[in-house]
Amino acid sequence: MASRIYNFNPGPAALPLPVLEAAVEGFIDFKGSGMSVAEVSHRSALFEDVLNDAVTRTKRMLKLPDDFMVLFLQGGASLQFAMIPMNLIPPGTSADYINTGTWSTKAIKEAEILKKPHTVIASSKDRDFKYIPKDFSITPHAAYLHITSNNTIKGTQWQSFPEAGSVPLVSDMSSDIMSRVFDPKPFGLIYAGAQKNLGPAGVTLVIIRPDMLERVPDDIPTMLRYTTHSEKNSLYNTPPCVAIYLVQLVLKWLEETVGGVEAAERMNREKAGLLYKTIDQTGFYQGTADVDSRSLMNVTFRLPSEDLEKKFVAEAQKQGMGGLKGHRSVGGCRASLYNAVTLDAVRTLVSFMGDFEKKNG
Ligand SMILES: *Cc1c(COP(=O)(O)O)cnc(C)c1O
Repeated sequence: MASRIYNFNPGPAALPLPVLEAAVEGFIDFKGSGMSVAEVSHRSALFEDVLNDAVTRTKRMLKLPDDFMVLFLQGGASLQFAMIPMNLIPPGTSADYINTGTWSTKAIKEAEILKKPHTVIASSKDRDFKYIPKDFSITPHAAYLHITSNNTIKGTQWQSFPEAGSVPLVSDMSSDIMSRVFDPKPFGLIYAGAQKNLGPAGVTLVIIRPDMLERVPDDIPTMLRYTTHSEKNSLYNTPPCVAIYLVQLVLKWLEETVGGVEAAERMNREKAGLLYKTIDQTGFYQGTADVDSRSLMNVTFRLPSEDLEKKFVAEAQKQGMGGLKGHRSVGGCRASLYNAVTLDAVRTLVSFMGDFEKKNG
């Protein structure tokens, strides 16, 4: 048995051990076919069952209305930054964006490059994206309002979603999909790169409401049109079969072993609660996000000096806890607490933090 560390990586990130074990088997002999999942036809019934099961579990766990489409696309969340304005801003309309960090900024940049009308109606850039804006007004009849539900790098998260009336919400949920319960009905489109909370890199979950598909223009390349993929159940061209297989195993684990999104949310609140409590106990650790905007998924904090931060990350690594270095653009430390990170992992981290403070505080 290989030895495993407590993995706090931001993405690619921890995957549940039972999923990896099942994947090893499927990688050699996929469902008794005598072939790897990497070797079977994407049009075989064996693979289509995997794809359809992933779709069904996504719909069930997120309580999606029946007519919402669930797609598995390539190009990462980053390609969605461009596909969304290409497909969903019809001529004569304009989209709203709220800028809450690095990923929102990149999403806005694509609308700009495409010269698609858009307005940034709020931003938290004035204080280095440490908070989620509260005061903004949504443009009446905007094509959509784009938000980033969880800001992986800055450690902030929308605690509840904006009331946008008839304006469809579009959200990048790459780093918090399936981590908490929310009402999907106001969303025209939700997207998430798999490598945070859903599986390995290489596939992106896209959930789209049917009225959004009516907007898709035909003067954009085939692969970049949502309708191409919705009409073919994500099988227009060869999909990333291995990545989709892993996502299906993660969804099955989430539903059958964890007990679904409600149960995951309870566990995620407990994990983040433990860590924030430790951070807030004394002045040694400093949380970087405003308290009312804190993320349950990515907990960002600083130590009294950069030297101590380096030492903290190195000693944690020695004690079997990896991935605690903050994003290169912000420094400091970050613990990512996705669904596959266990309470045990967080308890171990918190106890290490207490010891580290005693020795270095
Ligand atoms: C990681 C991340 C991305 C980038 O995803 P790719 O799949 O690498 O394109 C985008 N948005 C958020 C919120 C992320 O956490």
